[in-house]
Amino acid sequence: MAGAALEIRDLSAGYGPVRALRHVSLTLPEGAVVAVLGSNGAGKSTLLRAISRTLSFHGGAVTGGSVALGGLPLTGLTPDRVVAAGLCQVPEGRQVFARMTVADNLRAGALGATGNRAAQTAALRRVHELFPVLAERAGQRAGLLSGGEQQMLAVARALMAGPRMLLLDEPSLGLAPLMAQRIAETITEINAQGTAVLLVEQNAAIALRLASHAYVLDVGEVVLSGPADELAASDEVRRRYLGVV
Ligand code: ATP
Repeated sequence: MAGAALEIRDLSAGYGPVRALRHVSLTLPEGAVVAVLGSNGAGKSTLLRAISRTLSFHGGAVTGGSVALGGLPLTGLTPDRVVAAGLCQVPEGRQVFARMTVADNLRAGALGATGNRAAQTAALRRVHELFPVLAERAGQRAGLLSGGEQQMLAVARALMAGPRMLLLDEPSLGLAPLMAQRIAETITEINAQGTAVLLVEQNAAIALRLASHAYVLDVGEVVLSGPADELAASDEVRRRYLGVV
C-alpha cells in the first residue's frame, strides 16, 4: 500500500444517542478514486465529517476508532490542521460564500494552504484551466452562479489548498445529467493530476464508473466492498443502488 494512504480503522461516530457510524474500516490509497455508496441516512456525510474533523460543527462526535493519513493520526487534529496535512473536504450542498466574488471564494480556499504565493498562483492557474468559467466569472458574486457552476467553485476552492486528497460529498446532487457528467469528467482530470479522491455519491452509476474501489454503507456499517467493476456487476448493488430490477 502506498505510503500516504488514508487509513480508517474501526471508526464509530454519532450525534448524541444517534449512532451514525459503526466500526467502519476503509482505505483510500494515494492517487486513487474510492467511492462510498449508500442511501439517505446511511452515514456517508458523517464519515467525511469524521475524517475532516468537522463533525463537532454538526453536533456529532467520533466515539471510537482511528483515521490516519500516511501514518499521521488525524483524530485529535483541528480541521485546519487536517487541511494542512493535505486533506480537503467539499461539503454537501456546495456552501460557497454566496455574497463574495468567485475570486474571493478561491482566495479563501488558499487560506488553509501551507504553500507560498508562487504555489497559490500555480493553484489558481490550475483551477482556471480545469474550470475556465471561474476565470470568466471571477468578479461575479458566487450566489449568482448556476448550481453546476457553484459545485465547480466548491471543488476549485478546495483545490486552492493544494490537497493530496479530496473528500467530495455528493458532487452531482441536484445537477442536470449533463452538468453531473461534466463534474465527473473533472474529477477524473483532478485525479489524473495526482489528487486522490474519496467520493460520496447517491448516484452509484457515476461513482462506480469513476472509482477503482467502492464501499457500500448501510445504517452506519460497511455491508459490501470491493473493486468497483465487481460491485457494479453485483445483483444487490444493481438492484438497490443502480435501479436495475
Ligand atoms: P444523506 O445523503 O441524506 O446526507 P448520509 O448517508 O450522508 O445521508 P448522514 O447525513 O451521515 O447520512 O446521516 C447518518 C445518520 O445520522 C442519520 O440517521 C441522520 O439522521 C443522522 N444525522 C446526520 N446529521 C445529524 C445531525 N447534525 N444531528 C443529528 N443526527 C444527524
